[in-house]
Amino acid sequence: MASFDYESYITDIPDYPEPGVVFKDITPLFADAEAMRRTVKDIADHFRDAGVTKVVGPEARGFMIGVPVALELGAGFIPARKPGKLPRETYAVSYELEYGTDTLEIHRDAIQPGDRVLIVDDLIATGGTAAATGKLVQDVSGVLVGYACILELTFLEPRKALAAAGDQELYSLV
Ligand code: 5GP
Repeated sequence: MASFDYESYITDIPDYPEPGVVFKDITPLFADAEAMRRTVKDIADHFRDAGVTKVVGPEARGFMIGVPVALELGAGFIPARKPGKLPRETYAVSYELEYGTDTLEIHRDAIQPGDRVLIVDDLIATGGTAAATGKLVQDVSGVLVGYACILELTFLEPRKALAAAGDQELYSLV
């Protein structure tokens, strides 16, 4: 865990998006130039020597954090998008939510065999989104280096879900 007080830039929003849910709002962290700079550098430093060639970020907050991390690592960025959003041929993965399923897609030519891929999102809760994205990367012969997020909700035990997709590391700032 990092020494900077990232948590003070994350706001709890009770009963959003529905009653009983406490949403973690990370937009104050992005609104603060120093907090954002540290976030990006901290994640990039952790994977600096891992030979990352591609960063994959799930829609949509994964784009916000994935793109600057990719730039910092000298890697490319690949968006994992909701169905029907990408204009060319895609690979897709579906995964279970609490109620129903969700699907993410990447362009077929986005990852080349042997690409070393880091998956970055703002928050990992159950780990379902990250694990599904990890499976997608491995299905297309990418080498999954690990996962990174700003905030990990440990009480939801996301590491169990990620372990089912492989033994790659999860690095979280909070
Ligand atoms: P998981 O699949 O791990 O259960 O959920 C993580 C995904 O849902 C991430 O893409 C994340 O952006 C989004 N998400 C779920 N809950 C929250 C939340 O409280 N705050 C934010 N910022 N994102 C959330």
